[in-house]
Amino acid sequence: MQDHRDEERAAVAALGTAERASEVIRELIDRPLPPGLYLVATPIGNLSDISLRALAVLARADLIAAEDTRHSQKLLTHFGIRAKLAPYHEHNAERERPRLLAHIKAGRSVALVSDAGTPLISDPGYKLVREALDAGLLVTSIPGPSAALAALTSAGLPTDTFLFAGFLPPKSGARRTRLAELATVPATLLIFETAPRLAKSLADMAEVLGPREVAIAKELTKLHETVTRGTLDRLAGELSNSETLKGEFVVVVAPPAENEAELSDERIVEQLKKALKVESFRDAVRSVAEVLQVKRARVYELGLTLDRKRD
Ligand code: SAM
Repeated sequence: MQDHRDEERAAVAALGTAERASEVIRELIDRPLPPGLYLVATPIGNLSDISLRALAVLARADLIAAEDTRHSQKLLTHFGIRAKLAPYHEHNAERERPRLLAHIKAGRSVALVSDAGTPLISDPGYKLVREALDAGLLVTSIPGPSAALAALTSAGLPTDTFLFAGFLPPKSGARRTRLAELATVPATLLIFETAPRLAKSLADMAEVLGPREVAIAKELTKLHETVTRGTLDRLAGELSNSETLKGEFVVVVAPPAENEAELSDERIVEQLKKALKVESFRDAVRSVAEVLQVKRARVYELGLTLDRKRD
């Protein structure tokens, strides 16, 4: 009996919420949309993550500039939005940007969407925003999903200071150099990675950043969403044996430990040995000192004992 009443109450509440949401969206759609550039965040997997404001802007915009019009058309169709779409991506941006700006100058509203998530976050749009602002046009963001923040908030790692590093370079040498730059940043790192590169990229992170805590967020908001937590060395080891990976990933890496300057000699020697496999003695000493934030002289001394042992 109690269960039945609870179900009834839930059904009434659901109806009330649905009615209220549709009233809100009607009110929003009834308002005119001033001319300007609207940066509209769209779902990163689960279509229901779209906001009421995002729907209202997309429904009213004179033009929607989309990274991939066919992809965005599916989202629009899902929500019954009939809109004019124009492609705007890295290959046509130079040509299309003046046209989009001309639309806004002529008093029209242009919405910018990317394939998923927040435009401009490892997606096109930065130059368009810059030029629209330089031209004195209205630029406004309709915030919503972004894989970076969804990963950060579910990682269980410090959220007070974080650095979004986007995609790392695809080649290992350049990737390690970039990781060495990031190694000393006192912040949680957010890194986008593609499935085919994840294992190698994690191996480089483990080597350059050391055995820090990490969370790998996969397929966020989708059916097979997972967040795997562990240390960089352990997860890099596990992934090196796994078969071909699929899906979309964000890697969230903990900040460096505060007392890294007091690292054990063993830890420095371990890092140095790895570096010596790919670098000269001098370069290895320099990069290890940089990565671990210890004095170069200390690394050098330890390096000499290593050499002596070899003799
Ligand atoms: N602008 C988007 C945003 O705000 O989320 C990011 C676009 S970027 C081109 C695509 C990358 O974002 C993917 O390679 C992956 O690293 C990450 N990503 C996007 N959707 C994701 C999801 N559902 N789960 C995990 N990572 C995702």
